[in-house]
Amino acid sequence: MAVETQAPPQPTHDREPIARDRLYIGGEWVEPHGSGTFEVHDSTTEQSIGTVPAGDADDVDRAVTAARAGFEAWSQVPPHLRAEACIGIGAKLAERAEEIAELVAREVGMPVHLSLSIQAGLPAMDFSSMQMAVEEIAWEEDVGNSLVVREPVGVVGCITPWNYPLHQVAAKVAPALTAGCAVIVKPSEVTPLTAFILAEVIDELPLPPGVFNLVTGDGPSVGEAMAGHDGIDMISFTGSTRAGRRVGEVAAGTVKRVALELGGKSPNVILDDADLQAAVIDGIGKCYLNSGQTCSALTRMLVPREKMEAAEQVAAAVLEHVKVGDPFEPGTTLGPLASEAQRERVRGYIRKGQEEGAKLVAGGDDPPEGLDTGYFVRPTVFSDVRPDMTIAQEEIFGPVLAIMPYDDEDDAVRIANDTIYGLAGGVWSSDPEHAKRVARRIRTGQVEINGATFNPTAPFGGYKQSGHGRELGKFGLEEFLEVKSLQL
Ligand code: NAD
Repeated sequence: MAVETQAPPQPTHDREPIARDRLYIGGEWVEPHGSGTFEVHDSTTEQSIGTVPAGDADDVDRAVTAARAGFEAWSQVPPHLRAEACIGIGAKLAERAEEIAELVAREVGMPVHLSLSIQAGLPAMDFSSMQMAVEEIAWEEDVGNSLVVREPVGVVGCITPWNYPLHQVAAKVAPALTAGCAVIVKPSEVTPLTAFILAEVIDELPLPPGVFNLVTGDGPSVGEAMAGHDGIDMISFTGSTRAGRRVGEVAAGTVKRVALELGGKSPNVILDDADLQAAVIDGIGKCYLNSGQTCSALTRMLVPREKMEAAEQVAAAVLEHVKVGDPFEPGTTLGPLASEAQRERVRGYIRKGQEEGAKLVAGGDDPPEGLDTGYFVRPTVFSDVRPDMTIAQEEIFGPVLAIMPYDDEDDAVRIANDTIYGLAGGVWSSDPEHAKRVARRIRTGQVEINGATFNPTAPFGGYKQSGHGRELGKFGLEEFLEVKSLQL
């Protein structure tokens, strides 16, 4: 007997509008107090995908009341059972991976095959990784005549950006729930839709009401109401350094704990003894991932001065193979940016690079051929970029690489450390010990050696104005714990 198989539906931009008109508070979908809405756009067609509520300070108040009640119940559940709940959430997110991948491909613009592994795969892993992390915490330990116990910090406000929308929510919610905290999530108003899928998934599980709450809205109204609320014990914020600074200021009024995951301008140091071709090819990929909308993107490529021309040639050749286009078209390697505002910002930086005298190797500020609709930007490479240029100092958040010459290793380290940021970096050398020595001199929270892959359980976070606190794995879980001494 022939078995009929149904082909999975092909991803498409042509979908029914998504009208989310409720917030998730206290284990229920409730009418928002705020009356407005935010429209979400498809980054390729520029058409509306749907709307979400614009919550307000009253909605935050309601969520805090619910979360405080949820916290009382949830904090009494043993840690390994809390981690088990997270594993259940991860499994349900994995079941909805295609839906999540398509939604983020539309909202953010990442090619859908990458979106499936990264934008849908990582959040499921953020939750399932709690199985290991919960085992690695010393929940109780003896110190002299004291028993030291680790307890949840309380109610946590999670404020997240638009570039990896569900991963950034999951990287906070999974460890916070495992720690025993209750959470109020405010996703980016630019890409809020997958947070509703997470709320639906959690709604299907038997968690106490109020443990997870979702309030959509913008930063100044909902975000600041959370940062200043005395019923919230901690804000875990990911976003720009500008908004992070403001969150820190507002939160200081109630002396709450604040974890900040902010911007970056990460250096990729290609040492004299490195395989230049491999380093440039990999480096461009690390700069252009998610159309450059990655906080840890390696946006400054540092090359020995005498090898600049060779590096430019490799970069120009690589760019001929970058295919800009619709995230749902097979073969697309680079999609659009997430919003019109971001497209204009990135084009402005490309113009600034030219005005300040950087050498344009490829790209430019005009739209890619045939892509006038959609938030597309041409993949761009500048060379001869000096450390004092704007494009060497400011986070661009688009597919723009700055190749910078250096004279010797000390000069390379000096240039690498010469920004306000300190999030990530890379070092390339044919001798891994040499690379490690240089990596230790770079003032950033992560450094990858010879293009090593991202580790989703290793601590992630910034030095300097890239923020403070660490996310992911055991270190991410520790952020949500208080330490108490019982003297015996
Ligand atoms: P953004 O700062 O504009 O917004 C981030 C979040 O903060 C959004 O939810 C926004 O509504 C909220 N917000 C804005 N102003 C606020 C205020 N005054 N008070 C409270 N909340 C406020 O950032 P974005 O444009 O969405 O994201 C891009 C930025 O995020 C980049 O700088 C990028 O480097 C950074 N980022 C950092 C990491 C990391 O882990 N370090 C990861 C991803 C993105």
